[in-house]
Amino acid sequence: MYDVQSIRNDFPILGSTVNNHPLVYFDNAATTQKPQAVIDAIVEAYSRTNSNIHRGIHTLSQISTTQYEQARKTVQTFINAPSDREIIFTKGVTESLNLVAQTFGEAFLHEGDEVIVSAMEHHSNLVPWQIVCARHKATLRFIPFNKAGVLDVEAYKNLFTEKTKFVSVVHISNTLGTVNPIQTLIDIAHSHNVPIMIDGAQSIQHCPIDVQKLDCDFFAFSGHKVYAPTGIGVLWGKEKWLEKLPPYQGGGDMIETVTLEKTTYNTLPFKFEAGTTNYVGAHALGVALRYIMNLGIENIQRHESELMAYATQKLQEIPQVTIIGNAPEKAGAISFEVAGAHPADLGMILDKQGIAIRTGTHCTEPIMQFYGVPGTARMSFGLYNTMEEIDYAARIIARVATMFE
Ligand code: PMP
Repeated sequence: MYDVQSIRNDFPILGSTVNNHPLVYFDNAATTQKPQAVIDAIVEAYSRTNSNIHRGIHTLSQISTTQYEQARKTVQTFINAPSDREIIFTKGVTESLNLVAQTFGEAFLHEGDEVIVSAMEHHSNLVPWQIVCARHKATLRFIPFNKAGVLDVEAYKNLFTEKTKFVSVVHISNTLGTVNPIQTLIDIAHSHNVPIMIDGAQSIQHCPIDVQKLDCDFFAFSGHKVYAPTGIGVLWGKEKWLEKLPPYQGGGDMIETVTLEKTTYNTLPFKFEAGTTNYVGAHALGVALRYIMNLGIENIQRHESELMAYATQKLQEIPQVTIIGNAPEKAGAISFEVAGAHPADLGMILDKQGIAIRTGTHCTEPIMQFYGVPGTARMSFGLYNTMEEIDYAARIIARVATMFE
């Protein structure tokens, strides 16, 4: 039994009012709210146990180190990684994606090589590859998608040549809500002996992730989208790849020995964790993931898919509303337009009623160009949202829509 009302009590911010209305938080694709357990873990760490990790023999340093390394094991369990050596803490999915783009590019990309991404990537899985491809004189190729927001798998198959060196693709689109057929995309990449990375920024919080079952080569996500704090993220990679990639940044912790002339590098995962990491954030991420495991990601997924179906139906009942992206499988987010209304105006009016939605291009300008729109309004859901909140928002949107007619 998924008791959403009692779950809501775990999130202090959900009891607040915005513009004299109870907060309706529908901006979860941008960032999620934090349960008390995560907030407490941060306060507790800075109040009682704070000390830099790995370099101390004193008690507090050992506690911090243990918490950090336990968090790594929690991430390992959460995504079913074969080894915690393959879990690298970063500051977020953007850094994880850049890390792979830069280091893979340095090691493996040469003039004339090709990299495949989709045309629906978030800028953080597009721009790093543009930079790296330009640097190494490689070509970036794109998996197209159709008006419904569905990737063209046949076109993807045809993109492979003997020059293809890497594929990087988003699991769930933050703008369209499309759940991409990543298992198929992974299998096709591997049939060409090409490694593939999955941007899991919008999937880690919505569905079970098993990197061994998926058999992708890299999987990346941000803590703040999965009920953990900002400034912490994860890159998981197969050990065979992480061993082959050069270090991303130089500094403390990533070294084995240093002389003025030469450095040898630490083993995994530390080779990719230069400098003082966000160890408190990592600990809090572990707490957030344990919170989710307690609720059960399958239960969350069921609840959220009911929310998605209900919100879609409610929006479709408003004649002035057009939903952008109608893939058969969607999760997390619904983009829409209201005839005659600029998305920003709609967002401002909803805000006055306590409803937080996001408007704009959602860091996916090529998607906006494809649909020929300046931006969209986007409702995105989290594990604590309710049908009543959707009813309330739909009522206001319907009222606003008639105003703009
Ligand atoms: N990829 C996707 C699909 C996203 O939705 C986001 C965040 N909107 C990112 C990457 C970037 O995440 P972050 O800003 O946490 O690094």
